[in-house]
Amino acid sequence: MSEDTNYQLLIVGAGPVGCVMAERAATILGWKVLIVEKRNHIAGNCYDMHHESGVLIHRYGPHYFRTNKEELLQYLSEFTDWIPGDYFVKVSTRGELFPFPINLLTLRQFFNRPEMTAEEAAQLLEEKREKIENPANSEEFVLSRVGRELYEAFYLGYTQKQWAIHPRDLAASVAGRIPIRLNTDERYVDHKHQVTPAKGFTEMFKRMTDHPNIDIMLETDYTAIKDKIKPQFATVYAGAIDEYFGCCYGKLPWRSLDFEFKEVAQELVQPCVQVNYPNEHDYTRTVEIKHVTKQQHPHTVISYEYPKAEGDPYYPIPRPVNKELYEKYKALAEVETQKNHIYFCGRLAEYTYYNTDEVIERALATFNTIKNRYVHQ
Ligand code: FAD
Ligand code: UDP
Repeated sequence: MSEDTNYQLLIVGAGPVGCVMAERAATILGWKVLIVEKRNHIAGNCYDMHHESGVLIHRYGPHYFRTNKEELLQYLSEFTDWIPGDYFVKVSTRGELFPFPINLLTLRQFFNRPEMTAEEAAQLLEEKREKIENPANSEEFVLSRVGRELYEAFYLGYTQKQWAIHPRDLAASVAGRIPIRLNTDERYVDHKHQVTPAKGFTEMFKRMTDHPNIDIMLETDYTAIKDKIKPQFATVYAGAIDEYFGCCYGKLPWRSLDFEFKEVAQELVQPCVQVNYPNEHDYTRTVEIKHVTKQQHPHTVISYEYPKAEGDPYYPIPRPVNKELYEKYKALAEVETQKNHIYFCGRLAEYTYYNTDEVIERALATFNTIKNRYVHQ
């Protein structure tokens, strides 16, 4: 087969990075773009779909969209309307359900002090917390904020189940994702904008890529086409970086999940979208996404998440030894970018625990880099 050079840009992966990159190149530069995606759908891990019951589910875990950036929200608003993101989580521990992240309501319930004020809570945590100046890992991070009792009730078991390593072996930034508050704000995250696409993520990315200059080949692995399709300018690669290089330095460790979906003939089952189980069950959390999508349907679907080592790469595992290995791949990637015009962008390609808003920012930044290199005004 002769080489196909009809495209200016080739993109590997139709996740958030691939869709944003394609839209920008097609709209701003007028480039012809091809996205190859090995799965049978677009939207990457943000993919949502209708379960056989008709209930909209998040196929690869709950996606709570949030950002502090006005501009990012404005850009995405070209492709979707929004509904408010009601992201509320509870933790089941010691036989009770507690609001999580830890906040004043959690502390009142946990220490059985219903009248406790914010000042008293601050005093209490000051007594309980361990005085660690610069927490070097997730255990130290939590101990330095709330002390051992809360750490053991809320964090230790969940973290071990999720990552299969001890919190002291994980970067502080992992537990540091979760705020700790002394007010009664029970929202899961702090971000200024917490919204969800009114018709879902897949629909948003579908509208983004619905452009005459964008072609998408589903169920196509990059390795199957890379010798046949030669883009005129560049390739953006959003797959796992170690796979790109044939795992030549060894496999980067990834964390994966099994999802089990159960339909229930009831409007709603849980008190909120997510319940975490640090100390019971093999699953980490149950998710009832209807609380977020607000879909009207007589039935509901609950998903159960079982962490595992093998399978689709969902989470990089942030710890120093993995960062070292990643840095070796990154050095190869930099040469590949300069010599062969391959750009590595996204959660898998940068081995970084990015949220969706963050990878979209990465995609927009990489788009600018590409524009500056190949487009001469
Ligand atoms: P991905 O979404 O992973 O897309 C990469 C795509 O590339 C995939 O579709 C893959 O099939 C394809 N691909 C890989 N290799 C190849 C190849 N060789 N050939 C062809 N195609 C290939 N973010 C939030 O903001 N809020 C949340 O609440 C949230 N929750 C999450 C929960 C879970 C369980 C997970 C796993 C992630 C969550 N995220 C959340 C993060 C979010 O999913 C990612 O930030 C985002 O999807 C990353 O986009 P991406 O384009 O970099 O990669
Ligand atoms: N975490 C925990 N207990 C919880 C929830 C989270 O210990 O009830 C820790 C755990 O290490 C987890 C990390 O905080 O991996 C980040 O949680 P988040 O909910 O942000 O994870 P994600 O949604 O990305 O899986």
